[in-house]
Amino acid sequence: MADIYQIFGQDAHEMTVRLLEASDAIRLVPSGGSVALKPNLVIAGTPESGSTTHPGVLSGCIAYFRDHGVQDISVIEGSWVGDETMRAMRTAGYDKICAEYGVPFFDLKKDKTRPVQTAIGKIDICCRALDAGLLVDLPVLKGHGQTLMTCALKNLKGCLPDREKRRFHAMGLQKPIAALGAALRPKLIVVDSICGDLDFEEGGTPVQTNRMYLGTDAVQLDAYGCSLMGLDLDEVPYIGLAEQYGGGKASWREKEIHSLNEPGEAAAYPKRTGIVAQLTRRVHENQACSACFASLVRAMYNTRLGQNEEIYIGQGWRGQTLPGFGVGNCCRGAEHCVLGCPPTAGEVAQALTDLCGR
Ligand code: SF4
Repeated sequence: MADIYQIFGQDAHEMTVRLLEASDAIRLVPSGGSVALKPNLVIAGTPESGSTTHPGVLSGCIAYFRDHGVQDISVIEGSWVGDETMRAMRTAGYDKICAEYGVPFFDLKKDKTRPVQTAIGKIDICCRALDAGLLVDLPVLKGHGQTLMTCALKNLKGCLPDREKRRFHAMGLQKPIAALGAALRPKLIVVDSICGDLDFEEGGTPVQTNRMYLGTDAVQLDAYGCSLMGLDLDEVPYIGLAEQYGGGKASWREKEIHSLNEPGEAAAYPKRTGIVAQLTRRVHENQACSACFASLVRAMYNTRLGQNEEIYIGQGWRGQTLPGFGVGNCCRGAEHCVLGCPPTAGEVAQALTDLCGR
């Protein structure tokens, strides 16, 4: 079983360097090889909103690997369907970090791809992720409207072109996420759990948890993250599936956790509110893309409207006549519909307001 190094605090740069030093991470870089840093820039949001990896995690990684003689370091990422990666990187402050350290940033939405054989068939994966000497996975531990939790395994979805991200949703997310994790199998993962949003992937209601942890097995780290968030492993099926597909071990033991300091005020991990499940109990979700689903949930959360409506969302409803409110172009066959691919949260909120007569 692999070791997990854990540290408490709020200084992302310093915490990252300490984790990398404690684990002797440089041993994982092949001689003369490159390092590709893969953060979570799912959306144009600040780290303080609970959605994106703190830029201090990037600067900490760059400083550490530079100090150990690695010359070829890059940052790679592709935001979710519906947002622009370069806008997201500026919003999170990565432009300043990349300029300060002279490190290139590559938008994976524009990268070449190669088909890779996985447990569920071929997946097109971006070449910069496949060809990195060491792929460093830098996720945020946070909640997710459809999979309940997102961390190391799901963060790898940013290594796909948009067409493949959509296909993942059409395949039901769980198996493809697991298969991608087993295929890419990053050898180093540094989790930013300083202030993730425990309910919304796109942030907005962050919870200060003041923790980071590092490991070499994405499946094990997700199993650990699951327990921190108070979830049972079977509530997040892609973790167990990733183990079945050969991606790592879906378990951890106390003796594998090495804490580099003592926890402060945030010793106990706060619990998720479960608000997304409450809001969406009458939503008929069928292969919805993350951005589309997030727009709907955010609109319902902000307006507190729609909870008594039959709402349809997802690629699985394409071409069907639907007796209720449809979200996105896929549900244009609904009685009432807000178009867009995806529609914004503001557009969905307006449509719900019109529908509910306010
Ligand atoms: S309308 Fe929504 S669910 Fe359909 S393809 Fe576009 S983003 Fe995905």
